[in-house]
Amino acid sequence: MKGMNEISRRKFLSKCVVYNASVILGSSWILSCTKDAKGSNIYSDLEYLPIQNENPAIALWREKCEECGDCLEACAEKQKVYGTYHATKEKHVCIHCGSCIIACEENALTEKYHWQEVLNAIDNPSSIVIASISPSVRVGIGDYFGMESGTFMLENMVGACRAVGFDYIMDTNFSADLTIMEEASELQKRIQAKENIPQFTSCCPAWVKYVEIYYPSLLRYLSTAKSPVSMQGSMVKSYFAQKKGIDPRNIIHVAITPCSAKKYEITRDDLDIEGINGTDIVITTNELAILLKERNMNLTAQPGKFDSLMGAASGAGIIFGNTGGVTRAALRTAYFNITGMNPPENLLDLQQVQGLTGLKEAQVTIGTIVLNVAVCYEMRNAQKLLEQVMNGSCKYHFIEVMACKGGCVGGAGQPAGSSKIQKRISALNNADRQSSTRYCHENPEIKAIYNDFIGEVGGPMAKKMLHTTYNNKSNLL
Ligand code: SF4
Ligand code: SF4
Ligand code: SF4
Repeated sequence: MKGMNEISRRKFLSKCVVYNASVILGSSWILSCTKDAKGSNIYSDLEYLPIQNENPAIALWREKCEECGDCLEACAEKQKVYGTYHATKEKHVCIHCGSCIIACEENALTEKYHWQEVLNAIDNPSSIVIASISPSVRVGIGDYFGMESGTFMLENMVGACRAVGFDYIMDTNFSADLTIMEEASELQKRIQAKENIPQFTSCCPAWVKYVEIYYPSLLRYLSTAKSPVSMQGSMVKSYFAQKKGIDPRNIIHVAITPCSAKKYEITRDDLDIEGINGTDIVITTNELAILLKERNMNLTAQPGKFDSLMGAASGAGIIFGNTGGVTRAALRTAYFNITGMNPPENLLDLQQVQGLTGLKEAQVTIGTIVLNVAVCYEMRNAQKLLEQVMNGSCKYHFIEVMACKGGCVGGAGQPAGSSKIQKRISALNNADRQSSTRYCHENPEIKAIYNDFIGEVGGPMAKKMLHTTYNNKSNLL
């Protein structure tokens, strides 16, 4: 057996008492603890997370594993997954959040790599390869090219992608704006109808899967709005394809994200439109760097701009990558929808929901409505709020949940280093403040897509293209 790191193992074991575990320390790494439904011990004699080949998002490079147990600890403590079921080397439950990747200092866990598929598509002359780039990528990619952490690299990144051979390059912030148009309207309707409050955000696929597995009775509280990446895919293969006269079957849509869980999200059938998958390949910021270096590109290539139709975004879309960003963006448009006016400055920044505290809250007044909002990251914090909803003590109207520390800027597909997260948050906030508009409802390309294609916010076409359904996945346990 490879050298087991006894300190890490004991560190993890010592914390497992939270699961009512009676711990037997020693070489056998056995916990006698909470029983599962069949009466078996929840904890097994595992030294590492048994990531299986069919996991669409996470890869285990077994030869690099030092069996330190740090991945088990992250999965159990931060995300409340490992330790809730009877894990064996043949079975593990996963929400694809990537916390184990972040915890693994040996690089024995990584996102599953798909960058070679992107290069193959680019090299295929019959494919139209379209890239959509998430907000957090532009404040992460610079790390790989000698920039200071948190450097905002937009035009050079787009230019490098164009030089590599993507046919079109879009901004996923556009669909973050679209998400807010739908989510803010949904919140207003729920509040007026006094139904399904609180409204939970739905843009983090790891969080959505967590609710599907552990709290299926609460699925009606999730916003039905698809994630920005998913909306982007639906619009690229419909609206954009129509406007450009492209057969959507010839499009390979590539989402470039900070996220491992998006690799899982695109496998969900319930996000397809008439059997067409909106996004074909997801690569991370890490993989974009590999891909660019593979083609000898750097970020000093000719600067480029996003293509039009789905390339413009407001400051509200930009801050989607930050913890609290979705809430701030939603409140801006909810305020406008309810009062007919844009909100005051203090609501734009809403300092109470910013920063690296796992669970934050604020109270805001919009017209005659007083709204309580909560913002959290990591499932250990989300679980507290879910339990409040279960026992009827939840006071919140709107709850934002992200799996990763700091939000997507801290995703597992970003360059490693938790000290970089605050710098990335600041960079996205600066970009919001410098935007020509900070409201998604003022984005001219958003106005155009509703006028020309979607129709009414929350209307029949929006329901078909931009919303989804969820499923009880408790049978995975
Ligand atoms: S954290 Fe990495 S090295 Fe440690 S047990 Fe997990 S996979 Fe192995
Ligand atoms: S991706 Fe998340 S849920 Fe899956 S094994 Fe890793 S930490 Fe656990
Ligand atoms: S917080 Fe963002 S990066 Fe992390 S799993 Fe959720 S969507 Fe992905």
